[in-house]
This record gives sequence, C-alpha cells and structure tokens, in this order.
Amino acid sequence: MNIILLGPPGSGKGTMAALIEKKFSIPQISTGDMLRSNIREGTELGKKAKAFVNAGELVPDEVIIEAVKERISKPDCESGYILDGFPRTIAQAEALDKVAKIETVIDLILDDEKSIVRISGRRVCPNCSATYHVSIIGDEKLCSNCGAELIIRKDDEVSTICNRLKIYHEMTTPLEEYYRKKGLLISIDVDGSIEDNFAKIISALGVNA
Ligand code: ADP
Ligand code: ZN
Repeated sequence: MNIILLGPPGSGKGTMAALIEKKFSIPQISTGDMLRSNIREGTELGKKAKAFVNAGELVPDEVIIEAVKERISKPDCESGYILDGFPRTIAQAEALDKVAKIETVIDLILDDEKSIVRISGRRVCPNCSATYHVSIIGDEKLCSNCGAELIIRKDDEVSTICNRLKIYHEMTTPLEEYYRKKGLLISIDVDGSIEDNFAKIISALGVNA
C-alpha cells in the first residue's frame, strides 16, 4: 500500500502519517524530517537543502527526487509506505510515477487561518521528531517521548509561515487536480481533533478502525 499525504503546513500530515504507520505497519517517509536530520548532521544533502528549508522555500526538485527514490528503494518499503511532504510539485509527482505505483492520495483540507494558529504553537523534539502544540502541553519544555528539550522549528517562525502557505498554494495545490484525474484523491476536512481526523481517514480508506 503506497499512500501520499497532501496538505498545507500545519494540517497535521506528520501526525496522521505516524498514526497510519502504526496501524498498517508501513514506514512513514517524511521529507521534512529527512531534510532536517541531514541538515543537523551536515551531510551533502543537508548542505544542499539548508538555506531553502530555513527560508520556507522548496528544495530543488532534482535534489529531493533523488533522496526519495533512494529511500523508497530500501527493503522496509517493500510492502508499502506513506509519503508525508512529497511530492510537492508536478515535476516531483511525475518523477514518482515513473518509479512507484501510488494507490491513494489523502488530501488534508485546512484553511490558512487555522494553519497559522497550528504552526505558530508547534513545538518539536529535535531528537525523535515528536510534535506538540502549546494549546495541549502548556509551557512543558521537554519531550514526553524521549526527554529532549523541545524547540521551535526555524521555518515555523511567523515571518516564514506565510511564505510556506503561499508556496503551497502555488506549487502543491495543482497536485489535487493531478491525482483527482487519476481517481486517487480522497479529501478529508481536518479541523477536528486528532482522533476524529484519523477516524475520517480510516473510514475513507475503507478499513475497520
Ligand atoms: P510543512 O508541511 O509543515 O511545511 P515539512 O516538514 O513537510 O513541513 O517540510 C519542511 C521544509 O522542507 C519545506 O518547507 C521545504 O523547504 C522542505 N521540503 C520538504 N519536502 C519537500 C519537497 N517534497 N520538495 C521540496 N522541498 C521540500
Ligand atoms: Zn523526543
């Protein structure tokens, strides 16, 4: 089962992908997490991506396509995977079509105002990538998963959020039409709780919760 999660920044792609990973035992491939860990470790990929990621711009297609192709060819992807954050442009989607058969594209729908509220309260664990929201954790500073100190992602600063939303609408929204035409798109309103949103996805996938 190869699944793509589409959705603007703040729509909860990472959270939903992690729940799908657990339920179906297929790996979550988050290109954002992949890039951030490469940046932290100073790899070649990290060096190429750093300035783009920190500014909320897209990393060049050829760079990310190469990285994703390599990742999905690993043995743990044999029985499927969830792509979270890829593809983000038509060129990426076309490149993916050449090497993979996608079964479902889940499109998370959230308006910009709500995206902004969600992103600006986001706190992340730099160690295990767990994500939290200040509306739930209050002023807790440590990751409940691994104990590391939570941080605000550099591209979650208010000045960068609007740029990311703009780029999303320009570059990624056309993918909705691309996958709708192929009959693969499932749209899910995600302005509810995490549990409700996940339940909607499960029922749209046609499996029992
Ligand atoms: P969000 O969906 O919240 O914006 P992500 O963690 O998915 O955040 O991505 C963070 C950043 O990583 C993006 O703003 C971009 O710079 C880079 N990135 C991730 N995936 C891609 C991709 N498929 N193509 C180009 N850049 C990407
Ligand atoms: Zn952690």
